[in-house]
Amino acid sequence: MLETVVPGVHAWVQPDGTWWVNNAGAVAGGGEVFLVDTCATEARTRRFLAAVAETAPGAPIRMAVNTHQHGDHTYGNSLLPESTVLIGQEHMREALRTDPIIDGCPPFWQPVPDWGDVTRRVPDISVRDRLTVYAGGTAIELLHPGGPAHTTGDLVAWLPGERVLFAGDLVFSGLTPLVFMGSVPGAMRALDWMAGLGPQHVVPGHGPLLRGDEIAPAFEMLRRYYEFVLETAAAGRAAGRTPLEAARACDLGEFAAWADAERIVLNLHRAYADADGAEIDLIAALCDAVAWRGGPMPTSV
Ligand SMILES: [Zn+2]
Repeated sequence: MLETVVPGVHAWVQPDGTWWVNNAGAVAGGGEVFLVDTCATEARTRRFLAAVAETAPGAPIRMAVNTHQHGDHTYGNSLLPESTVLIGQEHMREALRTDPIIDGCPPFWQPVPDWGDVTRRVPDISVRDRLTVYAGGTAIELLHPGGPAHTTGDLVAWLPGERVLFAGDLVFSGLTPLVFMGSVPGAMRALDWMAGLGPQHVVPGHGPLLRGDEIAPAFEMLRRYYEFVLETAAAGRAAGRTPLEAARACDLGEFAAWADAERIVLNLHRAYADADGAEIDLIAALCDAVAWRGGPMPTSV
């Protein structure tokens, strides 16, 4: 549902926030709308756009940003009006341009997602470091964390006047974070960087909104998780274990309650690859995550 974060700023929070079930957002004012992300499927994106149209009747979606390349935030792009100017980080644009999964999802998830009638639509404007846009008089800063974090092409949408941060997947709220296409230390640095902005409201890429006093403890728990990944990777490499063996041997402790626990395997693959100075094998990592679970990863998309 579309939740009002502050007047004119809305978050599309989709429970339960697991695989392919993302959050998005809308800033409405001055007779126009700025959108943050779309959704994975045609049906979910149409529901989001209908809710936005109900909240801001007759207001055109003049601009939109993709916070990163992943399909749950981008595959619905083609359902935006043709006149909408779409913005994304330069690495994000290239990654979506060459993304194979929009053409057919591999059976790593169950049920296998069906995107519906969507086509590949990449940003019209690419951003390297930062860009400020004005939507109905509201300043929206689109900021890159400076290096790989969740992916190599992340952007957050920061509203300094309202102190609202659309964090994309730099923040998972109450779910296991995923960094296998980015960087574990980079994701930790991004937490400090976002905290430095001083947000009062954080719209995570997945999971419930974070407000006020909820933000610092949530960031701290993510930091502890990333430290745990790095420690588990270091111990696993020292013991000659594969990422899958290291994941099977570790005790997730306080993180076991988070959904999508199998992401430990994916995150360890990233930590191992970076420690080895190697390229990550994404398909091998996903196969290992399925092996850790004992079957395909569940989604309700
Ligand atoms: Zn993502």
